[in-house]
Amino acid sequence: MVRNCVLLLLFAVTPAPASADETAPARDPKQPINEAYTAKIKKYTTAPLFTSPLVDYLPASKNVPSPDAVLGDVSGAPGILPYAEDVYKYMRLLEKATPRVRVFSIGTTEEGREMIAVAVSSEENLKHLDENRARLAKLADPRSIKLDDAEADRLVAQSVPVYYITGTIHSPETGAPTALMELAYRLAVDDSSYIREIRDGVITLITPVVEVDGRDRMVDLYRWHLAHPKEFYPPLIYWGKYVAHANNRDAMGVTLKLTENVLNTYVGWKAQVLHDLHESVPYLYDNTAGDGPFNAWVDPILTDEWEMIGWRNVADMTKFGMPGVFTHGVFDTWSPGYLMFIAAMHNGISRLYETFGNGGADTEERTLDPQDYSRTWWRQNPPFPKTLWSQRDNNNYEQTGLLTSLHFFNENKRLFLKNFYLKAKRSVTKPAQEGPAAYVLPADDPRLELQTELLQVLQRQHVEISRATSTFTVALPAKKPKKSSKKEDAKDTKEKEKDAEPASREFPAGSFIIRMDQPYSRIADALLDHQYWSPDDPQKTPYDDTGWTFGELFNVKVFRVTDAKVLNTAMERVNELKPAGGVQGDGTIFAINNNAEPTLATLRYKLRDASIEAAEEPFEAGGKKFNRGSLIVRNVPRSDFDRAANETGLRGVALSTAPSVKMHPVRAARVAFVHTWLSTQTEGWWRLALDNLKLPYDYISTQTIAKLDDLNAKYDVILFPPVGFNAPSTAIINGTSTAWGNPLPWKNTPQTPNLGKNDSTDDMRPGLGWEGVAHLQSFVAKGGVLLTATDTSRFALSIGLADSVSVGTSQKMNIVGSVVGTRLVDAASPIAYGYDEKLSAYCDNGPIFSLSSIAGGRGFRRLGGHSSSRPTGRGTADDPDFTVGRPGVEAPEEATAELWEYPPVSDEQKRNGIRVIPPANRARVILRYADNKDLLISGLVEGGDEIAQHPAVLDVPAGRGHVILFSINPVYRGETRGTYSLVLNTILNFDSLDAGRKLAEK
Ligand SMILES: [Zn+2]
Repeated sequence: MVRNCVLLLLFAVTPAPASADETAPARDPKQPINEAYTAKIKKYTTAPLFTSPLVDYLPASKNVPSPDAVLGDVSGAPGILPYAEDVYKYMRLLEKATPRVRVFSIGTTEEGREMIAVAVSSEENLKHLDENRARLAKLADPRSIKLDDAEADRLVAQSVPVYYITGTIHSPETGAPTALMELAYRLAVDDSSYIREIRDGVITLITPVVEVDGRDRMVDLYRWHLAHPKEFYPPLIYWGKYVAHANNRDAMGVTLKLTENVLNTYVGWKAQVLHDLHESVPYLYDNTAGDGPFNAWVDPILTDEWEMIGWRNVADMTKFGMPGVFTHGVFDTWSPGYLMFIAAMHNGISRLYETFGNGGADTEERTLDPQDYSRTWWRQNPPFPKTLWSQRDNNNYEQTGLLTSLHFFNENKRLFLKNFYLKAKRSVTKPAQEGPAAYVLPADDPRLELQTELLQVLQRQHVEISRATSTFTVALPAKKPKKSSKKEDAKDTKEKEKDAEPASREFPAGSFIIRMDQPYSRIADALLDHQYWSPDDPQKTPYDDTGWTFGELFNVKVFRVTDAKVLNTAMERVNELKPAGGVQGDGTIFAINNNAEPTLATLRYKLRDASIEAAEEPFEAGGKKFNRGSLIVRNVPRSDFDRAANETGLRGVALSTAPSVKMHPVRAARVAFVHTWLSTQTEGWWRLALDNLKLPYDYISTQTIAKLDDLNAKYDVILFPPVGFNAPSTAIINGTSTAWGNPLPWKNTPQTPNLGKNDSTDDMRPGLGWEGVAHLQSFVAKGGVLLTATDTSRFALSIGLADSVSVGTSQKMNIVGSVVGTRLVDAASPIAYGYDEKLSAYCDNGPIFSLSSIAGGRGFRRLGGHSSSRPTGRGTADDPDFTVGRPGVEAPEEATAELWEYPPVSDEQKRNGIRVIPPANRARVILRYADNKDLLISGLVEGGDEIAQHPAVLDVPAGRGHVILFSINPVYRGETRGTYSLVLNTILNFDSLDAGRKLAEK
């Protein structure tokens, strides 16, 4: 306790080094104010405490238009939410009116809308942007000045730092655009010393709307709400084209345009700060300081900066008398997936505000939960339990927080610029410090297409990639043997002895080397390394995923090399990454090896008219070995095949005769992709993956399923990806209640021009309904393939589609967005084509499947081991008992089964065994979870014994069709490309899923 008190004192004292000569926040009495605008600010602010001397007035300008020029009222006025194009229009008016503002286009969204960045600074600074950027670039890459600290100091003294602010990545959090319009005006116009110092000392860069597609839909909905004031209004079911809230979890995979555009802007401008604006917590939660565990790859210099800036921000706003401003909070800083983490992973400072928004521009009475207004050590000045709250209040908090931050940052910019350099320098010197020296992705990886995709992620992260020009050898450290349990067999022990020896490894020429002596080594290290979250960590509620190791999730070989010799390898920088696809050899028949690379599916749909078959066994042809599931392609001109193979990064071999191996056709299945009207984000990642693979599908809702009597007439495969948030089956069936309220339309109308593009409905409320359930059942019975994952797998079980499978309830399992080990059980199944015995997968407390040989069995989770101990009596454990006075009878040996096998049917169960499920009707186990000791690959696995060894992917025969059940989520955030093919194999082999099936005898 004593130690804690000391820590608190340190927090309270050290981070606020305000010098006595700091400029006071006060307006310039000589500059006239815009009286009308100022009066409106006052009118829309619901209490005097909810504003500050920085924003309670607006300075007047003769030539620069204030936000009302576009909005028709002041920023934060009730009833006004501008579309992105109106925000841009205003920013461009500013650019026209003053040399202190410049607007840059930074790219477009998935739906083609523009994204912008607005630079606000002194005329002088904006005139010399390029020279300044050149100086910052040298600080950003210390190799360019040979790590010369004295030269860095000279550059620091001459440079103007860049503070990048991003607004409205989360579309229902609506306040930032108007706050940022007014902030840009203030920074350009206000002549007070406080603001002038910011203008002269810092380049403020603003992206007022990050999720532009979602913003426009949100404004549509708000307008609908204004037109129907007495009705409930539809929730924002689609934000971006694919992803909703998790657009702020894409900073690892960089699969969304908004991430890519902000990342390029941040890195391109050599910015020092990325400050992302959110709205959910009253009244301003600066989660910059965060809570543990901190991400292991960030520099402690940064965690110190978080504390300095965060606590100073609280101090400044508290002194203005503004209640409810705090930092620290409950947010852990482990996952690097948040947009702001682009800065943390690129040697800058990540920041994030949660202010209080009303999800629109209505002024409303808001009542808080006790936990939101409780006084904790980090929230001495909590918000009010109940208050009238306006968008203007929110805008006041956002702008005051940003202005005090900008001012503090400017006062200490030499420190922060030097830190920017030091963090980059420490990234460059990583091999000589904590290591590793490099990561190596070998040229002989069987999955070169997936390897390229992984390298492309690193490239989007601005990581430098090199390729060895000759073979090279490095020493690999000895693996520490795992703690042994008594049960281990001799083979295990032998393997461990082998692992314990230090080994060297030779890599072929052409292997990729990610050097760690580069400025952005940090992000490469964070993505490629392993994560470990202790079950004993005091943080019991991880904020997001706990593990993400990209090599594992891409099913690509990645070696972490600590041997610094690797850096001396002859190598060249690689700027263009493309796997060598195409065809070799002579002949009119083409064979492609199957290594579970997702673009095999792309190729199938590209070569629509070709006849393609899959080999059901491995074979050799043209001097090469082919795996089970390899494709044999016929009836296609060589040039067409060559082009398709090139585009998909696949390598084909031309043969004059087809191999004599059992094959089945691989047809282009007709695919339906089902979404609910409850939530679309989790399926959005699946949609994004299929679109990137150019795999065609019909996108239909559960409501459409309810209306289609004959699904088989239109579709071969129905994908029903996870709904998300562990949607209960009742919610999927019932939707949102129609027993009260009004219809909630999601439609493209003149009033809502941005809605209804993905899909539309007159009323979002109805779900699948029992009609829809019957249609799905009949689809499967008549031969269709239904694929489900996580919560939709639970749903499929709840409607009786798999009698031999049940879901258990976990008692203590806690697997929070982790990478786990799985094992192939049935390599002959087409779903497993191209996979090896071990496969890593993403699991987030997936359903625990258990198998039953008896229909109608209750869903008890089977426990490990088998209770077959002999009864009490004479003898030893395996020497049977006797009864005095009669001949002894030996008890029959009890059959046992592993957790991924069907429990044996006993002789007693077979008596009139009407409920015994015949082997052909039982599920086929494709993948199972690894043994408990091998379950954790990365992240947090607690109570893993509850799911260890249980089935992870199941193929359940049902009627003439199949239900494919996933406990893992195979398609997730663009991070799990190694497991995509489990889904794609199902689609490609939809009418031959029983290939290679061996039935149990009984
Ligand atoms: Zn948010």
